[in-house]
Amino acid sequence: MEGRAQHNVDVLGWLADALEELDCQSLRRIRRCRQSAQGRIIWLDGRELVNFGSNDYLGLASDPRLVAAVKEGLEKEGWGSGASALVCGRSSAHAALEEALAKFEGCEATLVFPTGFAANAGTIAALVGPGDAVYCDRKNHASIIDGCKLSRADLRVFPHADVDTLDHLLAKPHRHRRRLVVTDTLFSMDGDLAPIPQLVDVCERHRAILMVDEAHATGVFGNRGRGVVEFYGVEERVPVRVGTLSKGLGSVGGFVVGSTALVEWLVQKARPYMFSTALPGAACYAAMAALKVVEQEPHRRALVVQKAEFLREALKREGWNIGLSASQIIPIVVRQPNVALSLARFLETRGFFVPAIRPPAVPDDEACLRVSVTFHHQHSDLERLVETLGEAKRKLGLGN
Ligand SMILES: *Cc1c(COP(=O)(O)O)cnc(C)c1O
Repeated sequence: MEGRAQHNVDVLGWLADALEELDCQSLRRIRRCRQSAQGRIIWLDGRELVNFGSNDYLGLASDPRLVAAVKEGLEKEGWGSGASALVCGRSSAHAALEEALAKFEGCEATLVFPTGFAANAGTIAALVGPGDAVYCDRKNHASIIDGCKLSRADLRVFPHADVDTLDHLLAKPHRHRRRLVVTDTLFSMDGDLAPIPQLVDVCERHRAILMVDEAHATGVFGNRGRGVVEFYGVEERVPVRVGTLSKGLGSVGGFVVGSTALVEWLVQKARPYMFSTALPGAACYAAMAALKVVEQEPHRRALVVQKAEFLREALKREGWNIGLSASQIIPIVVRQPNVALSLARFLETRGFFVPAIRPPAVPDDEACLRVSVTFHHQHSDLERLVETLGEAKRKLGLGN
C-alpha cells in the first residue's frame, strides 16, 4: 500500500512546482466566488463592487423576463435535456429557438450548440480537414484557435487585422482543397473591430470561405443588433457566422448562422453538436426572451455604445493606453502582469471589479485591465472609475 501511495505522489509531483512558477510570474489564476445575481453591482468574495467584468452587455442575465421564461420552460420541459440533439435531446424549444434566431439574423438557418466554444471548435473542424488550409487572426478567441488545431488543416496565423498579409498568403500557389479564413468580428480583449469589408473582398477574390465570430457583438452592434457584419452592411457576403447566447443575450449556448446546406452539414459533422448533450430546453426559453428584448428595446444597445464612447474618451484624456478599442470592451493596457494585478486590487479596495487580463489570454507584454461597459452602468460609475484610476496611478507610482 505504501508503495502505491508513493507512486501516486510522484507522477503529479511536478504540479506544485509548476503552480509555484505561475505564482512567481503573476500568472496564477484564483477563482472568485460571486454571492449575488449578475448585474451592475455584484458581491464578490464578500465585497460589494461595481461590476466592470461581465459580458452581460445588455443587462439581460438577471432580467425578470428571462427568469420568467426559464420558469415557464422548466414547467413545460423539466430541466435536463437527457441526450444529444441528434438522439432525443432536441425539443420543440430548441426548434423554436433556431427558428427565432434565423428570423433575428435574417438568414436561412441556424444551429444551436451547447456553448459558443463548441460552436467555433465544431464548425471549423467540420468545414476543413487534412488537405485544407485555415487562416486565423493571431488574436482570435481560444475556441477558434483550438478549432483550427482540431481540424488538422494546415494552419496559417496572420498578424492581427492584417488584410494585406492575408491577401499575400492567399495569393500564393497552393494545392489545398478548401481554404477557410476565420476571425472574431469584435476582439474579446482589445475591443477593436476586424476589418470586415476588406476581409470579405479578399476572401471573395481568392475564393476562400469566410467565417466570423460575433460573440461580443451580437445584440450590441448593427441596426438590429445582429453584430459587426450588419454594422458594415455585408451580411449577404459572409457565409458562416458564429454567435453566442451567453454574452449580450444573457443566457447560455452558441449558434451558427448560414444556409440550410451549411446547417445540414454541421448536423452531420460537427462533433460537439453530435456528442454533447443538448442545452436544457429552459435555456432556449431564456434565449428567445432575450431575442425579443433585443428586438423591442434598441435603446439598450444605443446606450451601451454611448456609455462606452464616453468612457473611452475620458480614459484617453487621462493618458491611459486603451489600444484600438472601438466598443464596449475597453482594455487599459499596462503591459506587465504584476501592474495589472496591483491596479485591479487597488480598484477593488475602492469598490470596483475590473479583471486583470494576463497571458495566455493576451500576448506577453499586453497585460491589461479589461473594462466591460454594460447597459446598467450609471454615468457616475464611469466617472468614479476614471477618478479612482487616477488615484491608483498616483498611489502605485505608475508614470505616464
Ligand atoms: C466567449 C467567447 C466564445 C465562447 O462562447 P461561450 O458561449 O462562452 O462558450 C467564443 N468566441 C469569442 C470571441 C468569445 O469571446
